[in-house]
Amino acid sequence: MLKISNLTVKTGDKIILEDFNLEIEEGSIHALMGHNGAGKSTIAKVLMRDKNYEVVKGSITLNDQDLLKMNTTEVARCGLFLVGQNPVEIAGVSNAEMLRTSLNDQGKNTLNILEFNQKLTKICEKLEIPSSFIHRDINYNMSGGEKKKNELLHMWMLEPNFLILDEIDSGLDVDSLKLVGDSIKEYFEEYHPTILMITHQKTLLEILKPEKVHVLQNKKIIQTGDASLAEKIFKEGFSGASIIDRGNLDA
Ligand code: ADP
Ligand code: MG
Repeated sequence: MLKISNLTVKTGDKIILEDFNLEIEEGSIHALMGHNGAGKSTIAKVLMRDKNYEVVKGSITLNDQDLLKMNTTEVARCGLFLVGQNPVEIAGVSNAEMLRTSLNDQGKNTLNILEFNQKLTKICEKLEIPSSFIHRDINYNMSGGEKKKNELLHMWMLEPNFLILDEIDSGLDVDSLKLVGDSIKEYFEEYHPTILMITHQKTLLEILKPEKVHVLQNKKIIQTGDASLAEKIFKEGFSGASIIDRGNLDA
């Protein structure tokens, strides 16, 4: 269970989240929606312990462990895995090198080099990316959509148990969106991870069918519902769904 309680976060002098509360049961899929600039990516980055975001108040626990006492490496070892809105490019480090090192670090590297390459090749085929990606530098010179698929290549190899998907739909064409959605669904059915998905995309919500949908506005979650809440937002917009106090939107 992930439990975020009364969390206040700032960067520089700016408070981005204030008294933010969210609970996600293990193995469930939750969606987080909200206007541009609401703070969705901020919560994703705070969970990954990005040092640019200072936690002023509140707590985050993952299965009763204090996440705020951990650094990024430690949360990754706990199984958290972020597909960021703009995945970072790391020139000079190949996918294969990073994946073997990470698996070794976690004591999960049970494959010899041949089996390791075979597994990667199979995943590339499923994701419809060339097997040359195995030896490409991480996300380097890849298109937006290729980066998202490359991140899924990492997911399938590292087998995380908590996925944070920050607008994984952005940069994907319709066919790739379906493929990426189906791949995450397949991963969910095989490994039963917890998923926090940030999205504006109907297709992805239809494929992954989150149990709960949360709306972030005015620095906190202001409404939680089931899939029908997302439906309402798609039909009527955030303001039409009578959720938004527009007076505070640009504050
Ligand atoms: P969302 O993902 O919901 O669009 P973000 O979490 O990216 O929103 O950003 C929330 C607000 O915080 C925005 O106004 C953004 O400009 C600001 N912000 C986020 N990160 C930083 C940062 N590192 N420095 C300054 N402002 C930031
Ligand atoms: Mg964002």
